[in-house]
Amino acid sequence: MSLSTVFDPELIRRYDGVGPRYTSYPTAPHFNNRFGAPELVKAIKESNEDPIPRSLSLYAHIPFCFSPCFYCGCNRIITRDADKKQAYLETLLKEIRLLAPLFDRDREVVQLHLGGGTPNSLTGAQLSELMAEFRRNFHFAPERERDFSIEIDPRTVDAADIGTLREIGFNRVSLGIQDFDPQVQQAINRLQDTDRIRTILDACRRHGFQSVNFDLIYGLPMQNTETFAATLDTVAGMRPDRIALYSYAHMPELFKAQNKINVVTLPDPERKLALFQLAVERLIGEGYVYIGMDHFALPSDELSRAQDSGDLHRNFMGYTTRKQTDLVGFGVSAISQIADCYAQNAKDLPTWTAHIESGRPATVKGLRTHADDRIRAEVIQAIMCQGRVDFAEFEQRFGIVFRDYFAAELDGLPALAEDGLLALEDRGLRVLPRGRLLLRVIAARFDAYLPKKPVQQIPLSKVL
Ligand code: SF4
Repeated sequence: MSLSTVFDPELIRRYDGVGPRYTSYPTAPHFNNRFGAPELVKAIKESNEDPIPRSLSLYAHIPFCFSPCFYCGCNRIITRDADKKQAYLETLLKEIRLLAPLFDRDREVVQLHLGGGTPNSLTGAQLSELMAEFRRNFHFAPERERDFSIEIDPRTVDAADIGTLREIGFNRVSLGIQDFDPQVQQAINRLQDTDRIRTILDACRRHGFQSVNFDLIYGLPMQNTETFAATLDTVAGMRPDRIALYSYAHMPELFKAQNKINVVTLPDPERKLALFQLAVERLIGEGYVYIGMDHFALPSDELSRAQDSGDLHRNFMGYTTRKQTDLVGFGVSAISQIADCYAQNAKDLPTWTAHIESGRPATVKGLRTHADDRIRAEVIQAIMCQGRVDFAEFEQRFGIVFRDYFAAELDGLPALAEDGLLALEDRGLRVLPRGRLLLRVIAARFDAYLPKKPVQQIPLSKVL
């Protein structure tokens, strides 16, 4: 049974803040530079010796984009220089050949994702070469068990490209839509035609893609509830299988391109809350299931079914249906999660390239988790993915007495229970419909790295 969700503006106002999205625990800011290439190699060796071999998820970061979207906060390089992209691809292929032999050959690749930047800034031939290199060096699971996805900028593909992507092995796509309104698109420097997106979507369906995701953003310049309602009408008419609804965070001091946004055109926090409410209620009204954090899916989609069956998981790629995989990241800034370790590649192109060209993994920081991290990571996963924590399950798995081990954390929960975010029961805790849009607030109570403050003072999930 899907978990129900209630939008409570007062609670969202009260608990709003900025903070971890928990695609990992500990989160990336806690990685340290004492973890480098030797530690990554050791972690891979250890993971091969695990008595129950884990399958693999592969991620490759393609950092290039053709033009800057003004809202963007990604690690990307704006260029149309074909030589630069070819050089990057060649280094990426070397990285694959460098890391793949470290993994036992019988470990199957069940998941693969290309993110960016703009993965389709590479040509079809280049993407095909990349996939062929992965296939030569890793053992792909049978086709029906693969979850192979790519993020696409719809401005730079056509229906024929979609056919190529399917042929070279992708079965899921994510389209960056953000907003269909021309004035909003003008204000964010991302003009894209609705008919073109419809054509691409049709091509995805014709070519048998299992799922299509739309990325939307609320809080953008020039957005108001009328224009965003029209965007949601269009989205509802197209009915993508998944929708990611992100909040725009205006931080021009961190992301230079955002300086091009005229702040007076941004919706204020109350208007932004209204946009968020409009989108959540409309998507749920259209039959979408709220998965958690920013994600919605049709009930027939694998993500919704995984939520029902308790198989939903969260990692650096967001929500996934693949539990128990090791994630191997390729490319500039990519993060790996191998056994009990996290490893991150150099974030700048010259450093990443220099490492790979000299035959060394490009890991520049990471973390080996300790026992307490692993217990907390599982509690946070349970909150973010299943919306409940069963104390007995944790006691059995980790040999702890949950109420003793987490005495301080549990002491802080009655306030959240009184506000209707969760129910604290004898056997565990359960996220209530009013708490579903505030999962991070609940998860943060179990984060040992956050300063211990009363919950309303902890900087958390920025919605507004
Ligand atoms: S939003 Fe996407 S396409 Fe636009 S600049 Fe950022 S990474 Fe590139």
